[in-house]
Amino acid sequence: VLQVRGLGKSFGSNTVLRGIDLDIPRGKVVALIGPSGSGKTTILRSLNGLETPDGGSVTVGARDNSAEGPLTVDFGDAALPKKARAAQLSALRDRSAMVFQHYNLFPHMTVLQNVIEGPVQVQKRPRAEVVAEAEKLLDRVGLLEKKDAYPFELSGGQQQRVGIVRALALKPQLLLFDEPTSALDPELVDDVLAVIKELADEGWTMVIVTHELAFARQTADEVVFMADGLVVERGPASQVLRHPKEERTQAFVRRLL
Ligand code: ATP
Repeated sequence: VLQVRGLGKSFGSNTVLRGIDLDIPRGKVVALIGPSGSGKTTILRSLNGLETPDGGSVTVGARDNSAEGPLTVDFGDAALPKKARAAQLSALRDRSAMVFQHYNLFPHMTVLQNVIEGPVQVQKRPRAEVVAEAEKLLDRVGLLEKKDAYPFELSGGQQQRVGIVRALALKPQLLLFDEPTSALDPELVDDVLAVIKELADEGWTMVIVTHELAFARQTADEVVFMADGLVVERGPASQVLRHPKEERTQAFVRRLL
C-alpha cells in the first residue's frame, strides 16, 4: 500500500530527513520510534501531503475496488509548477488520514460535525450516509451519546477517540498516528491504545509514531528506529525492541522499556 523512496527534507540548514525508505504492505502496521527531533513527525506529514519534501517519492495504493491506480508523487521533480504540486499533495492527502498528538478537533463543531466534515465537505459524499457511518463508528468507541457534545466537554481520551473516528470516516488507505497518546493523562492512555490495537487487528494499514514501546511490541508488525533523519534499524517488532543490533537502538530501547 505504501512505498517511500529516498525521502529528504531540510528546513533551511537543518536537514531533517536524509533519504528514508519505507515499504508497508496492505494490512501491516509499522511503528516509527526514535529520539525527539529525529524526523518522525516530518515523515508522517510528508505522507499526508502536509509537508513538501525536497526529494524522493511516495507511492500510495488505491482503495479496494477502486478504478484509480496507485498514486506516486515524485518530490525530486523540482520543475513541477506549484499548482500541479498542490494537486498532487491534495491527492496524496485524500489517501491517508492522520490522528494528531493534540487531537486537532474543530473546537466550534460538535463531535458528529467534526467526524462528518471531511467526508461531506471534501469528499462530497451524501450526508445521510456519512452520518449513519459516523454514528456507527462513534458507537464502536463508546461515544455515541457524546455526538452532540463539543470537544471542550470531553476528556483528552474521548477527544482522541473522536480524532480516530474522524480519520476512519475518511475511509483512507493508510492511517497515520502521530504520538496519539503522548498528550494524555496516564489513566486515559489505555482506552485509546485499545482502539488502535483493534484497528490493527482488523487489518488497517497504519504508521504509528509512538514512545509506547510495549504497545509497539504488541501491535506493530515492523518497528523502524530512526535517528538524525536516518533509519538506523528496522525489523520485526519483537526483534528490534527485544534484541536490537545497533548500539543507538539498544540505548534508546533500554531507556524507554
Ligand atoms: P518529536 O518526537 O519531538 O515529535 P520528531 O522525531 O517527530 O520529534 P520532527 O517533528 O519531525 O521530529 O522534527 C525534526 C526536526 O525538524 C526538528 O529539529 C524540528 O525542529 C524541525 N522542524 C519540524 N518542522 C519544522 C518547520 N515547519 N520549520 C522548521 N523546522 C522544523
